[in-house]
Amino acid sequence: MRIHSITYPDANNGLGFRVTLWVSGCVHHCKGCQNQETWDFNSGREFTDEDKNKIFDILSLPYIKGITFSGGDPLCSYNDVLSLMKEIKNKFSEKDIWVYTGYTIEFIKEHFGEMLNYVNFIVDGKFIEEQKDVSLPFRGSKNQRIWEKAENGEFIRSKIENKAAN
Ligand code: SF4
Repeated sequence: MRIHSITYPDANNGLGFRVTLWVSGCVHHCKGCQNQETWDFNSGREFTDEDKNKIFDILSLPYIKGITFSGGDPLCSYNDVLSLMKEIKNKFSEKDIWVYTGYTIEFIKEHFGEMLNYVNFIVDGKFIEEQKDVSLPFRGSKNQRIWEKAENGEFIRSKIENKAAN
């Protein structure tokens, strides 16, 4: 997998202070996307063991609540992302995982089901410029939904959708 960057502390892409991994490559090509430089799967640089260890070091910090996978669309690099998620949950079970993706949860359930065992929050759907709303917390357009894993393991619409923007 290739990435553009690892940023922290990030308070804009999920609850609390987080580390965010910006994965290269996206097939959705939404009109008005703010990260068009990440669409190319050859953009950015190779994700290395050094990067992984850096993420682990950041996740070890007590004030870091978890990790967010963004991009690009991290699900376009599904196998690598899934294996990193597994390692993270294994080492840091108390930290949460957010994923931003242009796919809908319905599509994810059908095609990327294993990931649902590891993620806690999913912000789903393409960015639709005509539905852009800058007041929405943690997402760019009204069609995008925030899904949260409930105690029974099912994903439900999160109350965070209605949280006032910071
Ligand atoms: S899914 Fe995200 S990164 Fe991909 S084009 Fe749409 S807004 Fe941009």
